[in-house]
Amino acid sequence: MPSPSSDPSLEPSRPRAIVFPTIGPKLFAELRAAHPSRIVLQVPAGLVRNSHELVARLREETGVPVVLAARACFGACDLPSRDEAPRADVAVVLGHAPIPNVPLVRPTYFVEMRESGGDPEALAATVVEGGVPKRLGLVVSIQHLDLVEPLREALARRGYEVRVGTGDRRLAYPGQALGCNYTGAEAVEAEVDAFLFVGTGRFHPLGLALAVARPVWSLDPLQNVLEPAIDRANLIRRRQLLVASVRDARRWGILVSTFVGQDRTPMALTLQERARSRGREAEILTFDRLDPRDLEGRGLDAYVNTACPRIALDDSPNYPKPLLTPPEFLMAIGDLPLMPYRFDTYH
Ligand code: SF4
Repeated sequence: MPSPSSDPSLEPSRPRAIVFPTIGPKLFAELRAAHPSRIVLQVPAGLVRNSHELVARLREETGVPVVLAARACFGACDLPSRDEAPRADVAVVLGHAPIPNVPLVRPTYFVEMRESGGDPEALAATVVEGGVPKRLGLVVSIQHLDLVEPLREALARRGYEVRVGTGDRRLAYPGQALGCNYTGAEAVEAEVDAFLFVGTGRFHPLGLALAVARPVWSLDPLQNVLEPAIDRANLIRRRQLLVASVRDARRWGILVSTFVGQDRTPMALTLQERARSRGREAEILTFDRLDPRDLEGRGLDAYVNTACPRIALDDSPNYPKPLLTPPEFLMAIGDLPLMPYRFDTYH
């Protein structure tokens, strides 16, 4: 018999994630039915220009005051905090899926902004023409997730064996790309010769190429343009050179974020212990939003960042001292070999 503390029915209820594919009547009806006193709206960078029209529409459709979260949003883990919108009792977040293991501070309506465009037959023909290997893993940005099944079928008709992996509890859907977690792809890595990322931009293909030891192609589904495979060896060589440059660093800063979806304090404490056991000094520095200027003028040789893994991987040239991910830090102090390269998966 379960003890009272393990009975889920006795736990205080947690704020819910409610998911919609697009902005529309269903979202407005659910918001009206919830009778919130104030809504906070968060939009991704690509929708900032239209954000004031979106606020007005939400206000008109629901009859509820709406405030706009103006701070630039990092990603799916970075939702408006209580302090940022203290009087809003629900949030509407555009362009992201919920991250199942990130707790919410208020009921949050995720509008994934799914795209209906992209012709699966034409896309599959482009993949064939591009010479992409036949044993193929699919990884898709949240906006294009509805293409997974039709594209898988179109490729299968052309002789492809397509795998779509299910990731860990940080991913809401099989095949989903998240910049800090490609565990869905890793789950099928052994069964494929290459991965195809379906979406736009370089952010996800680069992360995927660091996470899996397979060639990564990317396909823009709206333009039907296939990009050549990423030069993974070159990406990894650059990270290894950075690691090698700090092998003798004595004084390390360990960066910890207070953002609810990026706080890996237990990992930071473990890294501090590992550093000390290897004769290094290591201090923990906390922040919410990391600014390169905050690291200037400190008597430290290098940093390891336990917050968003993409800060070190994509932005390290902006920082005054070398900035490593946790696995790279363990390579630098000799706790891990340089090969195979390990992506900093945020579980
Ligand atoms: S940790 Fe970084 S990559 Fe992961 S969801 Fe947050 S912002 Fe995106």
